[in-house]
Amino acid sequence: MDLSSLNPAQSRAVMAVEGPILVLAGAGSGKTRVLTHRIASLIETHDIFPSNILAITFTNKAANEMRERIEHLIGPVSQQMWVGTFHAICVRILRRDGDRIGFGNDFVIYDTADQKALLKVCYKELGIDDKRQPLKSTQYKISNAKNDMLTPEGYEKEFGGDFTERDFIKLYKRYQEKIKQNQAMDFDDLLLNTLLLFKEAPDVLAGYQQRFRYIHVDEYQDTNRAQYLLIKALAGKHHNLFVVGDGDQSIYKWRGADIRNIREFELDYPGAQLIKLEQNYRSTQYILDLANSVIKQNPNRKDKVLWTDRGKGQKAKYYKAYDERDEANFVVRQIKRLVREEGYRYKDFAILYRTNAQSRAFEDLLIVEQVAYKVVGGLKFYERKEIKDILAYLKLVVNPQDDVSFQRVINEPKRSIGGKSIEKLQMYAQERGLSLLEACGEPEAMALLSGKARQGAEAFYQIIGALKAKVDTAFVSTIFDDLMAQTGLITLYEQERTIEADARIDNIYEFKSVIDAFEQRNEAPNLRDFLAETTLRSDQDSIEDTDDSILLMTIHASKGLEFPVVFLVGLEENLFPSFRAADDPEALEEERRLCYVGITRAENMLVISHAMNRTQYGRYEARFPSVFLTEMDTACIDGIDPAGVEMPHKEKPKQSYFSIGKSSVAASKLVPKPMKPTEAAQTGSVENIDFVYKPGAKVMHKVFGSGMIISVNGSILTIAFDNKGIKKLDADIAPLKPI
Ligand code: ATP
Ligand code: MG
Repeated sequence: MDLSSLNPAQSRAVMAVEGPILVLAGAGSGKTRVLTHRIASLIETHDIFPSNILAITFTNKAANEMRERIEHLIGPVSQQMWVGTFHAICVRILRRDGDRIGFGNDFVIYDTADQKALLKVCYKELGIDDKRQPLKSTQYKISNAKNDMLTPEGYEKEFGGDFTERDFIKLYKRYQEKIKQNQAMDFDDLLLNTLLLFKEAPDVLAGYQQRFRYIHVDEYQDTNRAQYLLIKALAGKHHNLFVVGDGDQSIYKWRGADIRNIREFELDYPGAQLIKLEQNYRSTQYILDLANSVIKQNPNRKDKVLWTDRGKGQKAKYYKAYDERDEANFVVRQIKRLVREEGYRYKDFAILYRTNAQSRAFEDLLIVEQVAYKVVGGLKFYERKEIKDILAYLKLVVNPQDDVSFQRVINEPKRSIGGKSIEKLQMYAQERGLSLLEACGEPEAMALLSGKARQGAEAFYQIIGALKAKVDTAFVSTIFDDLMAQTGLITLYEQERTIEADARIDNIYEFKSVIDAFEQRNEAPNLRDFLAETTLRSDQDSIEDTDDSILLMTIHASKGLEFPVVFLVGLEENLFPSFRAADDPEALEEERRLCYVGITRAENMLVISHAMNRTQYGRYEARFPSVFLTEMDTACIDGIDPAGVEMPHKEKPKQSYFSIGKSSVAASKLVPKPMKPTEAAQTGSVENIDFVYKPGAKVMHKVFGSGMIISVNGSILTIAFDNKGIKKLDADIAPLKPI
């Protein structure tokens, strides 16, 4: 094992093999790198079998990268090593052993939209008004209860005495009954059920304890209670647990993360070795000092040393914008200048913000300026209607118990099955303990429906049945092709002949290429694994290293990543820190940690900005600069006027992006031009927008092949394809390349 690329403290961490080990260190000090090296060293130097190693990463992307690096070092035996997120590891365990707690290996995973659909049914059945008990809050409370390991029964025991909890308890119970009936699990169930399995079947746990002799966890500061218990159970025999983390980067308290897990590691695992890393390899000194000046305002933390030999570097740049458009204009101008004058590429830049809604002002401008960008997270490809429909079909093919997916697609495309027919089916199914799909296979149930509805239901039943018969033998891509042929979804969209329908078709083909990639990546690709992988995708998984695009994302989504230049925008009160932190000191501390995470993503250059006016929730209003700006060490910032941070200014800056007419107009009266988020921004498939399309230009379309642009109207291109005739396509969405 070559340790020359590690400093002494890092080498010590890599060489420590037995017993519990905690690597506690600030951002950019090489924690993730040490974790990967240690795994390689276990295999290479200590002859540990890859199958004895478990590594839990924060994203699937990180898992893939780690696997690739290890594979590079030791070859394909690395396949036997389990690497993945908590959720992915739990899916794997439950697929193998879930039968011990009543789950077949065909269970499907519900995302938040499925969860919502199921909850709606529960509300309806129980006659609970969602005005009295809002659906969102129920969803949130169920998730929290599960993260705290409270089943509906456990919750009732604890809070049943409180009559304001009564509706919630009913809903939680019904939801849990139904999700089980549907042979489905939501994200939190994956953890909860794995723990339940370990409790109910100690021999299964013993098997995993035996197998996973060496366990690794990245970003340990953000583990929640259920995750903590899972690790504790798995490490229960060998105690060879290697975790890395940074208390200052704990930013998921709202999702149940418990910072105590890291603070109390040494209590939980007596004799644990503590290793600190102090050299930062990511950022220059000004950036580190700036980060430190903010985080040190948090009480109850141990001050950490963090130094770099990269030199002082440049001071952070500061910009006080007139409003969000001016802020976007400044950022985009800076990026273009740096690309032009300093040789940066677009992918060197990240624009980080507190809330997803902030991406819009930047997107509007980036589109006009024809600069390639990618929004990480936000409305994702997989949340698009046509993609969710296909996923629901596929889920139903795997698992006929899945009533949520059934209801999503029974009338997609139209099969004349109205609300009444569904109700009849539901009654029938409920009485006999069947799923809705199973009911469609019963002549008696079909007899209850009118002619057209019956035909539709029978046809639907047959389509799913025929696909199901192939599930264990056919390629996922074959099942997909059959599904398209049988349902006629693409044909229907084609007949619509609208731009929107064309975009949907493009997305469906894009989905097909996701399947192709999955099949190439996996030795034994199957539909169950494909569905699990797509459902568990995280924001960071959409980042492709090959794209030369500016990345836009929330600070939460940027965890663990690094970029040469970072724009940290929207540093305003009630935005960052969030309005939720206004009267809550603990929430403010978490916001401050988030600020620390944002600053420490930057390698060479950091730019911070805030706007004096902003449209938020449809209102245009004056804003105050963030308290974090006042905490920042001004010696590390260029162009900041400490006095200027105190008060919002009223005049219009010289280089404002949008013209507001007379500056005497009161800010509150300005009606900002409505900003339409583009489809491109939502799908993230924007690789093509840095090209200017002109009539006469030759292009290549992923599906339609080569053709020539006849006319251009905004982003709508009319293209004559060599073999597919003339089509109108939206340049922002269509998979087009110039040739
Ligand atoms: P975060 O807290 O943000 O997750 P981290 O502690 O996990 O950060 P890494 O991402 O592992 O830090 O490392 C930060 C950067 O420093 C990476 O680019 C990594 O390759 C580099 N790095 C780490 N250690 C060394 C080293 N000894 N020599 C050279 N580069 C290093
Ligand atoms: Mg890391």
